[in-house]
Amino acid sequence: MSTALPSYDEAAALVAHHVAGLARLQPSIQSVKLAAGAGRILALPLRADQDLPPFARSTRDGFACRAMEASKQAPLKLVGATRAGDAPAGPLSKHAAWEIMTGAPVPAGADAVMMIEHVRIDHATVGGAQVSLLPPRKLKPGDNVVERGAQARSGDELLPAGTAIHSAQIALAAACGYSTLEVFARPRVAILTTGDELVPIKSTPAPGQIRNSNAPMLASMVAAAGGDPWVLSTAADNAQALDRALARAAEADLLILSGGVSAGKFDLVEPALARAGARFHFTGVRIQPGKPLVFGDLPVRGARAIQSERSTTCFFGLPGNPVSSAVTFLLFAAPVLAALAGSCVTGPRFALARLSAETDKHGKPGLTRFLPAFCTFGQIAGARPEVKLVCWHGSGDIAALARSNCFLVVPEDTSSLQAGAIVRILLT
Ligand code: AMP
Ligand code: MG
Repeated sequence: MSTALPSYDEAAALVAHHVAGLARLQPSIQSVKLAAGAGRILALPLRADQDLPPFARSTRDGFACRAMEASKQAPLKLVGATRAGDAPAGPLSKHAAWEIMTGAPVPAGADAVMMIEHVRIDHATVGGAQVSLLPPRKLKPGDNVVERGAQARSGDELLPAGTAIHSAQIALAAACGYSTLEVFARPRVAILTTGDELVPIKSTPAPGQIRNSNAPMLASMVAAAGGDPWVLSTAADNAQALDRALARAAEADLLILSGGVSAGKFDLVEPALARAGARFHFTGVRIQPGKPLVFGDLPVRGARAIQSERSTTCFFGLPGNPVSSAVTFLLFAAPVLAALAGSCVTGPRFALARLSAETDKHGKPGLTRFLPAFCTFGQIAGARPEVKLVCWHGSGDIAALARSNCFLVVPEDTSSLQAGAIVRILLT
């Protein structure tokens, strides 16, 4: 164990400190069609263009009335009807009720709606139909009605800048008349994989070679975290190739390198970063997998130094093993990327779950472990999410990674966890 390395908490705090600094810099703003807004970050607050709902709305099919009158269970004369889409009607006369459909405006004078299932309708009365609330039911003012402006008043800020846009935010924007959204430009994230053994996906690897699986994995993780992935050609394990690739990659807003950061003879990424002027914040973290992770920044040079608000570009050197790359990206790179994207929520996301079987005792002491696991979320009402480890063969096991949907966190002072324990999981 290398005690000089920061613990997970220390490294996370360091990254969080940088995240806070980046969050103060506003990315540029662009306009997108509402339908293309999913996955983007709102650059300007979303405001209500009118009261929401714009009229007092019935939430049920039934009869609008005065709650006090209806609660006496006396017959109320039916004096009108409103369907969804009709203009607000009324006023409702005394001792009367008004037929109303879900989503229709409640007539002036009415303060509640009796559900159709809860009334007796008498069609046979002279002078028109009457309805009465069935005993023992009572009605309170406001029952089955959403008041005009209950959700928001015209001009209210509904969502702040920095909100991630998903389907619910798109629905709200549509309700407020937004056909386009102002969003932050996606940060450009260079993905530079390194390694002499790597071949492109379409190639059949020769003996000793493997396909480059990290490039597409990291590209999809970057996209999911709000970035625009820029996959560079793989760099070979030699100084010239790395220097050339780094010079290009440094044009990005964030640089993700994979491979070449361990202690091996051909792990040449750190020296190449140093030659490019890197400042290292840490070169290793007490975690497993992912211990050789490198975090730092490079000076912004040339024309970009004049255009850009930033004088440095963050980089992460992820260990090349796929599980290590995935874990370290989620824990450390994704929060930096979220901040660069202008998001007001930056991960990582942890949750609690119940462990279904005891973990092994072979973990190295002093390292926080993040083990591929599968969590089943609340199938039984009131039950906690249940997590179990996925059988895996070390940090190169892509098959295990693909069968997992989270990582079980084993604290650094814990060698194994008992079945039934409440544990932390890192959500993917
Ligand atoms: P490294 O971090 O370069 O020492 O690589 C550690 C392990 O990860 C080695 O077994 C590599 O072959 C593997 N590896 C490195 N880069 C990639 C990649 N882009 N895709 C899949 N495996 C990789
Ligand atoms: Mg390598």
